[in-house]
Amino acid sequence: MNHGVNLPMIQSCNDCAACCMRTPIPPFQPGEEAALGVPEELLLPVRQRVAADQHFDLLPCVWLNPETRLCRYYELRPQACRDFQINSDLCRLSRWDEGLD
Ligand code: SF4
Ligand code: SF4
Repeated sequence: MNHGVNLPMIQSCNDCAACCMRTPIPPFQPGEEAALGVPEELLLPVRQRVAADQHFDLLPCVWLNPETRLCRYYELRPQACRDFQINSDLCRLSRWDEGLD
């Protein structure tokens, strides 16, 4: 979307993770975990958060390491995370929410 404003380009995701801060569980499509071969123990925190009914809240993803600000299981992340675009509106909104930029 073009808002008619020339926003500066964000160069890197380093030290950001703002998008992962508002995605309380890895956004898997049905069956995607199995297709990716995600081990059961990695899905346990996901199930716990869903059971706690927090999966619609803007909470950090259960797979995010808050210290490194990196995905703990990057190789197993959902397609939605792989497709998420730096500099997209949602990227900018996430960063703005986190007080970045
Ligand atoms: S919010 Fe944007 S810059 Fe930050 S990690 Fe996500 S895609 Fe990268
Ligand atoms: S990249 Fe990892 S930490 Fe970030 S939302 Fe996706 S699964 Fe969660």
